[in-house]
Amino acid sequence: MSRLVLVSNRVMVPEPGASRRAGGLAVAVDAALKGREGLWFGWSGKVADEEDAPTRPSVVERRGRTYITLDLSKIDFQEYYNGFANRVLWPILHYRIDLAEFTSVDLAGYLRVNARFAETLSSYLQPDDIIWVHDYHLLTLAKELRALGHENPIGFFLHIPCPPPDLLTALPQHAETIGGLSHYDLVGLQTEADAENLGRYFETELGSNAANVRAFPVSIDTPVYARAARNAMRSRQVADLRASLAGRQLILGVDRLDYSKGIPHRIQAFGHLLDSRPEFLGQVTFLQITPRSRTDVPEYAEIEQSVSSLVGQINGRHGDPAWTPIRYVNRSFTRGILAGYYRTARVGLVTPLRDGMNLVAKEYVVAQDPEDPGVLILSQFAGAAAELEGALLVNPHEPEAVAEAIATALEMPLAERKARHESMFSHLTHNDIDRWADHFIAALESKRRHPGFLDGLRNLFSLRA
Ligand code: UDP
Repeated sequence: MSRLVLVSNRVMVPEPGASRRAGGLAVAVDAALKGREGLWFGWSGKVADEEDAPTRPSVVERRGRTYITLDLSKIDFQEYYNGFANRVLWPILHYRIDLAEFTSVDLAGYLRVNARFAETLSSYLQPDDIIWVHDYHLLTLAKELRALGHENPIGFFLHIPCPPPDLLTALPQHAETIGGLSHYDLVGLQTEADAENLGRYFETELGSNAANVRAFPVSIDTPVYARAARNAMRSRQVADLRASLAGRQLILGVDRLDYSKGIPHRIQAFGHLLDSRPEFLGQVTFLQITPRSRTDVPEYAEIEQSVSSLVGQINGRHGDPAWTPIRYVNRSFTRGILAGYYRTARVGLVTPLRDGMNLVAKEYVVAQDPEDPGVLILSQFAGAAAELEGALLVNPHEPEAVAEAIATALEMPLAERKARHESMFSHLTHNDIDRWADHFIAALESKRRHPGFLDGLRNLFSLRA
């Protein structure tokens, strides 16, 4: 079997002796490398001063896998990561062109870092490796690797949404970046709708064939997650949460603090529920877990302000000395504890304005007790909505409808909850992260150029000429 080379913006090198890291991408990388020889290449997460930015990568071996990481200089971090990736590509690909802050300096930094990744990776590549690149930070890596003469199969997976060509073409000089995707042998997207959008862009803007653009919806490690949720019920933290609810039903939201997640809209919808359905006053608790992210980007400080002020308004309006309607928590939790919180919640409230997949939605379903499952309320604009048919689908821009869905979920009879849960759990059992990785890798393997055959053809034509 050939070696698998994974490339992503950030590489999480496991600490010696520590249990496996389990962030979304680390779970995906684990699945991809299961039973395969491989390496993981990317940024270390460290930002070095210009003068002492090391030019040589760090190479670490852990549990039979190789991790190769580079530091970024301050200027690279600013232009490539904070600038172009997070302030231009992230908003545009999430349909928020109004928030995109394009500068040609950041674009140049982005292209420069992609070229540097390619140059550094180049010396570690072997001719029969297959290369799988992850996410929007590295749109032009294949182009750079091709320019260095690598003919390996190179695949790309976009973890975030892909909007229609009209929005993609609003990005200045889009052919330089989005157009870079045409150098990959296979481009995977989260949903059929995303694949169709990129396919149309390829055809109309690049005049290129979209046959290599396909949907591969990402997933979670279903059996491992279900076990983690069962075990978490014995933990002190979960017991503490349950005791603190004093018999009230729990509504749970879990999202990074990001404008794509629709947190203010969700809080307003909950406020609307309390305004319009007084029978729920004092009967429910809404816990919103929201770790801060990208604190260097100004748009994220603004969203923090608006969420805190909305929480304050609703708690002030409806709370009483013995009951706080919304608990808003700005820290992150280990996946084990989170799984126990999901299992405790009668309602999982997942209402992003736009999301590539949303793994929280899948985790919530898998964490439930099948004999007494909670109800998932899911935005129609999350990639997961294309798969999770047992969820109550909502438009997050319509607070009255979201409030109504919360009431429906809270009042839903056990038989209906079980039926909805069973259909989603069965889907996620068949479509888990291993299947996702195996499908993508098999499709990428099939793109291998057969040098013997091609050389034969070339020779034939040169003889005839
Ligand atoms: N997560 C976590 N601890 C927290 C909050 C979130 O481990 O306190 C994890 C969560 O379990 C999920 C991931 O972060 O696996 C978020 O992935 P998702 O696709 O929902 O959103 P993203 O943050 O990637 O946009």
